[in-house]
Amino acid sequence: MRILAIGAHPDDVEILCAGTLAKFRKRGDEIFICHVCDGNKGSKVYSSEELVKIRRNEACQSAKLINATSIWAGISDGEVTLDLQSRIKIINVIRQASPDLVITHSPNDYHSDHINTSRLVFEAVYLADLVLWKTEYPATEKLPYLYYMDTLAGVNFIPDEYVDITDTIDTKIKMMMEMKSQLGWLKEMHNCDAAEFIKTVARFRGFQAGVEYAEAFIQQKMYPQGLTKRILP
Ligand SMILES: [Zn+2]
Repeated sequence: MRILAIGAHPDDVEILCAGTLAKFRKRGDEIFICHVCDGNKGSKVYSSEELVKIRRNEACQSAKLINATSIWAGISDGEVTLDLQSRIKIINVIRQASPDLVITHSPNDYHSDHINTSRLVFEAVYLADLVLWKTEYPATEKLPYLYYMDTLAGVNFIPDEYVDITDTIDTKIKMMMEMKSQLGWLKEMHNCDAAEFIKTVARFRGFQAGVEYAEAFIQQKMYPQGLTKRILP
């Protein structure tokens, strides 16, 4: 399968679903990671221009750990809005990856960039296959499955599916550790140690799922997809 994970900021996919992506990769699937925002406001140390370069480099190094392809929608932090221009950008992201499965933020997450990314992806999965909608990439040929990944710390999120990531949690943490510019930022802004955060949430979801470590998801149920199959690994 071709798997496309779309996060608002460089580090969201890594925190919220990288264990599942690593598990897909292990079984031979092709992985694409899209960062909708370029990360240009997440620092008190660097200028926006410096930060964009740093975070792009970090995200690419992180993606390399699971041989994933990085895709960027090129929107500034805090500027993900529900308009036509953004919709076309997300259609182009989906067209670049031509996925069988898309994973993105929950509509109930905490940050407007996350919530609007969720909505834009929901809209774009239905529109990317319209051949009469011309963009710089060719239309896709199928409607992908759509899943929402956990929210930050699981707030406002009642999962309906779990993935056992016991074998890939170390890779997930390594992927996050590549986001070096964000580790100090998360500590300073939210008093959050990224590795501890990832392990604690995965352990909590693991307790719920009856395994050591898990990630949690909700499927967006859509016509005309058959809903009888397990899609997640
Ligand atoms: Zn974010």
